[in-house]
Amino acid sequence: TSSPTLTFNDGNTIPQLGYGVWQVEDDVAEKVVFQAFQAGFRHIDTAKIYGNESGVGRAIASSGLSAEEIFITTKLWNSDQGYESTLAAFEESLERLGLETLDLYLIHWLQPKQDKYVDTWKALIELQKRGRVKSIGVSNFTIEGLQRIIDETGVVPAINQVELHPYFSQPELREFNASQGILTQAWSPLGQGGELLEDPIIAGIAQKHDATPAQVVIAWHLAIGNVVIPKSVTESRFRENFDALNVTLDAEDVEAINGLDRTAEGTGRIGPDPAVSD
Ligand code: NAD
Repeated sequence: TSSPTLTFNDGNTIPQLGYGVWQVEDDVAEKVVFQAFQAGFRHIDTAKIYGNESGVGRAIASSGLSAEEIFITTKLWNSDQGYESTLAAFEESLERLGLETLDLYLIHWLQPKQDKYVDTWKALIELQKRGRVKSIGVSNFTIEGLQRIIDETGVVPAINQVELHPYFSQPELREFNASQGILTQAWSPLGQGGELLEDPIIAGIAQKHDATPAQVVIAWHLAIGNVVIPKSVTESRFRENFDALNVTLDAEDVEAINGLDRTAEGTGRIGPDPAVSD
């Protein structure tokens, strides 16, 4: 099995299922990313702030896989926002990853009070023009933030990576992204492995498909068109997560999971709200 790919508005493609490494120590990242490649993952999601770009880079180097066979994302940290500082931070990330060019670079958070994201976006546009990075996008951007960078530069991000799981399924933002040709990428896709994986609706669908709850949640992300990057450092679990590619939900299952959204109750979100967090 290999992951299906989705096509960005710039013509490049991204494997729809990837492997995230937030909260993974550098030396552990080296081990688990190597194992994740063996399990079939080809898309890795890291960030400067995760402190494990070097470990990811060592795993890439020892994997025997060529740059063309893998897809690597990293992210610009908040304190590096601004035009010149972004250009410098990008080269440092690439150095740690041991890569010649990057597949996808994201602005990690909007940071509305800092208000440097337009200049930061201009730096990403420049990096793409120079051929240093193939595709550019954002993370934790609101509709307003997206609209502003599009209006001020004319360049539409390839992707917007946001908190998204069945309890916080972001229908409005997904619709806006789609209307602009921006792919939606789900972070904390399993709801960080808490209550969601015990949910009785998910459990029922899992039983019906002879799948696990984590596989059902990943299959839901794939069915609604998200790029999805579940995290686990346990090999049996991340192999299970990769095998979610073989689980196909029925339309009624997707509808039932859509119905779990808790946005209206205000209890769905786990992480900070990008509109205010700075
Ligand atoms: P997640 O939703 O992927 O949940 C991970 C947790 O779920 C694991 O630690 C484990 O406890 C559990 N789990 C995983 N697979 C399981 C399985 N098969 N069975 C049972 N339990 C299982 O949470 P996450 O790590 O927050 O998000 C995934 C990735 O998204 C991160 O690693 C990172 O790459 C990215 N991310 C990005 C941002 C951002 O601001 N852009 C923020 C958070 C996460």
